[in-house]
Amino acid sequence: MTPLAAERPIRILFLGGHGRSGSTLVSRALGAAEGASCVGELRYLWTQGVTKNQLCGCRRRFATCEFWQEVGRAAFDGWQNVDAAEMAGLHHSVMRIRHVPRHVLPGADGPFARRVQRYADTMATVYRGISEVSGSSVIVDSSKFPTSALLLRRVPGIDLRIVQLVRGPHGVVHSWSRKVRRADKGGRLMATHSPAQTAAEWLAFNAAIESFRLTSTPWTLMRYEDFVARPHRELARVLEFAGLPSAGTPFLGDGTIDLPADHSVAGNPMRIRTGVVPLKADEEWRTAMRPGRRRIVTAFTAPGMLRYGYPLR
Ligand SMILES: [Zn+2]
Repeated sequence: MTPLAAERPIRILFLGGHGRSGSTLVSRALGAAEGASCVGELRYLWTQGVTKNQLCGCRRRFATCEFWQEVGRAAFDGWQNVDAAEMAGLHHSVMRIRHVPRHVLPGADGPFARRVQRYADTMATVYRGISEVSGSSVIVDSSKFPTSALLLRRVPGIDLRIVQLVRGPHGVVHSWSRKVRRADKGGRLMATHSPAQTAAEWLAFNAAIESFRLTSTPWTLMRYEDFVARPHRELARVLEFAGLPSAGTPFLGDGTIDLPADHSVAGNPMRIRTGVVPLKADEEWRTAMRPGRRRIVTAFTAPGMLRYGYPLR
């Protein structure tokens, strides 16, 4: 047994689901609670943090963020001792959504499995470093991708708990079709996807994350709309699920949330916003989306809408 595996397991609260479902806000709210730390979308640590030196949630570059530099020292005696380009390459070759079947099919060994294990072993060291530097008993990882959740099952010394975060598909489709400039990347435009692609991926991502219900990994569902409407109740419920005190949320006001700076390595541009933010559902799609497109999205995603309690009309 390696020394890492012999230590107390590190509890990861993993937010899974499809992009633009409010995961940056929800993960930051969870990470602001007593005993928790939010690290954002950790799947982009190598591609955006270590190699591209992009902005951390604390508004410093990765290389000048004290938190991530300490994590690098605790984990590897400094990031310079890891082959970040190799890790970014590994990420590209095993962590994309199309790789889901190869993560779950039995008997998947050979080069693919060896690449996955190499990536997982390195991530174990990263998580150990995060745990040590943050001192938190729960690390909130909002990577969302099913492949990231599947990988965590192979990371030695991890106690994984999954929160499936769902947002109604019309809001998600509308968000992916909007042109939005990123305050965290010098005004670069956020990626856009067609409604058909988003609708299909919404179904696929949610089905893949929900499949964890069939495993021994603890799983719970949170609807973004419920979080915004009843944040105290929803946060308390998920914090209890994570084994944290449900009362540790003094940052929640009446319809507002007071967000401290955190060290999310990647995510939605709102990750660099701090202070009091209104908690309000983004319902722009209701007026901005044409009725024809709305009907097509409903038809495409109806099985998932019914499953997660969204009315078809
Ligand atoms: Zn930082």
